[in-house]
Amino acid sequence: MFHLINLYFWSLKFFGLAILLFLSNLCLSQTKLNDLFPNIDFLKSKKNQIEKLNFKIDSLNEVHLKEREFNTKTIQITKTNIDKLEAEIATTKQSLVLCQVNLDSLNEKIQILSNTDYKKRHNIEGKHTPIPQKTWIDLPVFSENWSSTNLFPYVYSENNKIPNLLDINLFEKDTGFCIPYKGYVSSGFGMRRGRMHKGLDIRLNRHDTIRACMSGIVRFADYNNGGFGKLIIIRHLNGLETYYAHLHKMVVKPNDIVKAGDFIGTGGNTGAKRTGPHLHFECRWKDYPLDPKLFIDYDNFTLKSDNLIISPEVLRTKPFR
Ligand SMILES: [Zn+2]
Repeated sequence: MFHLINLYFWSLKFFGLAILLFLSNLCLSQTKLNDLFPNIDFLKSKKNQIEKLNFKIDSLNEVHLKEREFNTKTIQITKTNIDKLEAEIATTKQSLVLCQVNLDSLNEKIQILSNTDYKKRHNIEGKHTPIPQKTWIDLPVFSENWSSTNLFPYVYSENNKIPNLLDINLFEKDTGFCIPYKGYVSSGFGMRRGRMHKGLDIRLNRHDTIRACMSGIVRFADYNNGGFGKLIIIRHLNGLETYYAHLHKMVVKPNDIVKAGDFIGTGGNTGAKRTGPHLHFECRWKDYPLDPKLFIDYDNFTLKSDNLIISPEVLRTKPFR
């Protein structure tokens, strides 16, 4: 019995000692851990931060993936659009080629038609026999209101009614058209110093050659005291009359037949003593003056058109000088 009790106490002692040993070891290990990792709290907070950063990286990656997906889609759409546009450009190019072909054929047709028209207007087809010059004098245009003394024979006449629209030829098949004098136009047609200037002033040197601009018959060739000086008036086949004033010398006389380009006189300043030598050139239809620049291009010395439309619009300036 005593042995049993003794054993019991010894075992209790041993057990208590073991517990004591365990507890002391535990305290010792905690101290050791603290000794080994004095910054454990700091490390913990860093770990938290790293976790947070990882979370951010994950969310950013997600956003990036979404953006990439969106951009890929946009690129695909753009590529499709570019393909469509390229296809449209190709179609348009084809249409343009077709248009050019059509335009070329139209231009060709216009060329043929205008040539036909030109031939018709100038009687090149052979249907028209040119009037022999010696019979010109019998044409009504050279007998109506004909005067070799009166500068403006239509003024008091019944024959000077303005046509609504009259298409006249300027270019004669056999004789063509000639610029009377190729020089600088110093004064044009229109109002000048409160007065109507009914022609063009073309600068020249005295004795320069003046030529008839179209074929016709000289109606007037004399000195005029009204300001024209030595003046030649030619009536043409188309009914127009041209006036050549301030001449120095006249080499034609009334009723002479002249062809376009014929020498009719020389330039001067008769009747215009206060100005330098110049040609005062007028063009009239039944005494109504019209601007020669309507049909003469004085920059290039060419005819603007082979024909001229006579209408109230063109003849809006009153006759008389
Ligand atoms: Zn003048």
